[in-house]
Amino acid sequence: MGFRPFVYKAALYAKVTGQVLNTPEGVLIEVQGAPDQLAAFEATFSSTIPPLARIVTWERETIEPKHGEDLFCILKSTGGHGHQVLISPDVATCDDCIADMRDPAGRRHRYAFTNCTNCGPRYTITRSIPYDRATTSMSCFPLCPDCLEEYENPLDRRFHAQPNACPVCGPRLWLTDKAGRTLCENFDAVRSTADLLRGGGLVAMKGLGGFHLVCDARDQKAVQLLRDRKNRRDKPLAIMVRDLDAARALCVLSETEEELLCGRQRPIVLATARRNTGLAPGLSPDTEFLGLMLPYTPLHHVLFAELHRDDMPAALVMTSGNASSDPICLGNREALRRLGGIADHFLLHDRDILIRCDDSVLRVADGQPMFMRRARGYTPAPIDLAQDGPVVLGVGPLLKNTLCLTKGRQAFVSQHIGDLEHLEAYGFFREICAHLQDILQVEPAAVVHDLHPDFLSTTFARESGLPCLPLQHHFAHIHAVLAENGHIGPALGLALDGVGLGDDGTLWGGEALLVNTAQLEHRRLARFSQIMLPGGDAATREPWRLARACLHALGIHAPGEKSWPWLSDHAAADRVVGQVLDRRINSPLSSSCGRLFDAVSAMLGLCDEISYEGQAAIRLEAIQDKNEKGVYSCPMIEYEDIIELDTRTLFAQVHADWLKGEEADRISRRFHLGLIDGLAGLCELLAGKRSCSTVALSGGVMQNLTLATELPRTLTKKGLTVLTHRDMPPNDACISLGQAAYGRLVLHP
Ligand SMILES: [Zn+2]
Ligand SMILES: [Zn+2]
Repeated sequence: MGFRPFVYKAALYAKVTGQVLNTPEGVLIEVQGAPDQLAAFEATFSSTIPPLARIVTWERETIEPKHGEDLFCILKSTGGHGHQVLISPDVATCDDCIADMRDPAGRRHRYAFTNCTNCGPRYTITRSIPYDRATTSMSCFPLCPDCLEEYENPLDRRFHAQPNACPVCGPRLWLTDKAGRTLCENFDAVRSTADLLRGGGLVAMKGLGGFHLVCDARDQKAVQLLRDRKNRRDKPLAIMVRDLDAARALCVLSETEEELLCGRQRPIVLATARRNTGLAPGLSPDTEFLGLMLPYTPLHHVLFAELHRDDMPAALVMTSGNASSDPICLGNREALRRLGGIADHFLLHDRDILIRCDDSVLRVADGQPMFMRRARGYTPAPIDLAQDGPVVLGVGPLLKNTLCLTKGRQAFVSQHIGDLEHLEAYGFFREICAHLQDILQVEPAAVVHDLHPDFLSTTFARESGLPCLPLQHHFAHIHAVLAENGHIGPALGLALDGVGLGDDGTLWGGEALLVNTAQLEHRRLARFSQIMLPGGDAATREPWRLARACLHALGIHAPGEKSWPWLSDHAAADRVVGQVLDRRINSPLSSSCGRLFDAVSAMLGLCDEISYEGQAAIRLEAIQDKNEKGVYSCPMIEYEDIIELDTRTLFAQVHADWLKGEEADRISRRFHLGLIDGLAGLCELLAGKRSCSTVALSGGVMQNLTLATELPRTLTKKGLTVLTHRDMPPNDACISLGQAAYGRLVLHP
């Protein structure tokens, strides 16, 4: 992270002697000099440290002077147990390196693996600790004399830059057809790739944490071909453009969005797309938001320089190189095998990717960044916790899985792993679990898993030989928000989510919970009205079944004068579902918030069947008429043991307005506002009853921008303190963190 050269320069400047080295316990600095010199040396650390460095703790002690010490030097790293030095996340190419690549006279002109101490690959090329060239996939590229000189010169920008390379000694590029036959190499390969993309081709490009499937985002035929071959009908496709100006031409960007786009993590940012920008239609068919990112590897910069035309800046679709829900591809042969049916050409290189890592995705809600997916650029940076505690492993849920290990006052959440429904993803999960334990040099004292007995993550926990602690899905959501905010004590938690198994055997997902992290108290205080999910998982894939279940709950068993929107395509299935609901066969009860959104979306004819998770709710949110002021009522029903947020009544108003022929965009708005109003009223009531004014918000539905913006505002107006996610997505990616945080409370109350 450029820390030792920084120390070296500080020592030269302060005229002290001594040494610096990486040790298993951290960076060890020994300095010797007059008191004012020592003070000047130490002052450097409080004024400036390198951009990628982060001092977590700082300890000092005085030792006996060493005689005969007349230099300051950097010593070789030592490995071993108890390592405290963190591996940095991957960092986007810095401006100095971009300048090197643009310099026709320089030795790195157009070199696609240019990097320095301030930028380049880290996490994805590092096998184990300590982070040194020998433990990275650069170990097979011996440095040439010029690179070695840079590497050994403490005053050079590339001093100890582990991935340092040049065209003489470093990795090389080549382009192949889908049979793996090499067509051309190095810069010619980039130029040919640019030609192929301009001609409408689909190219698989090896990147930092995996492969991307790439095509021209302005070429409708190419985009459709990619969708067809990848079997990705409607799910949004992210695009990359050359620079911020090009991004501004395509999207309306706020200051925060621009900062995120240009930051060294370079995530995909969801921003409002402008109209008529010449992009292919259908990049993001369900919303006005477009996933946008800027180049983050030297290869991206070299490629965009070749693609650039003055009239219209290039825009490339860059989507994960995988087939449907498999993990992103890693190796050259693996890519040729798995992506051969999608891409026509492959731009490959010989620097191995050791750790898979997808692009991160963020959006901005009410001026604050919100993660949708946390991976490249952020992993393995830790999340700070309020308290020290034992090492606990959280193994995460089924979908959007991540895993989390705690160490001291930090939690290390893995990159996005994916859906643990496939063996490939499970392999990736086990790989990352071992890797995290290795780089952190820790062994967990316990493992926390979901209540669901059939998840592969649960199986993994049970077979680990470690003490196992089960934790209900939505309590884990709330523990995650509380851990990110360092909250200790009681809090109300709203979990607005898809479905998760509850401790009463029903499926939860619209819950108000009480979590007290000081006394480890868990209580379910309220829930949404329950509906049946006819066909179980089928109801998740076909939202019309949920609309049908909501109508059934209202005692409506057949359409009146207005036919239900799904009957044209699903009349036969509808009759079966009617019988299934009457007899309560294979129709688990659920209080899920996400499924309520699905039901409303289907009732309005917006989505019968989904082709990706969240699609029905995304369409419902997108059509809202923001000028509409009407609000449906969402009352509460108090039972002896629980309060019900009467979302059945909310749905009844949706249905009544739909029957009247009211516009769907106005109904959608009234529904959103009604739900927010109902939730705020519920929180106010519970806050009074429990004398607790803190409300934590989590769950996949909190990715809905209307809720993410309006719900905290409404709660704040009622005098409540609102906690939301800062470091993790509100979706199931945060579960592992909540599990691990809970495990520490159990072991170490
Ligand atoms: Zn650099
Ligand atoms: Zn070299």
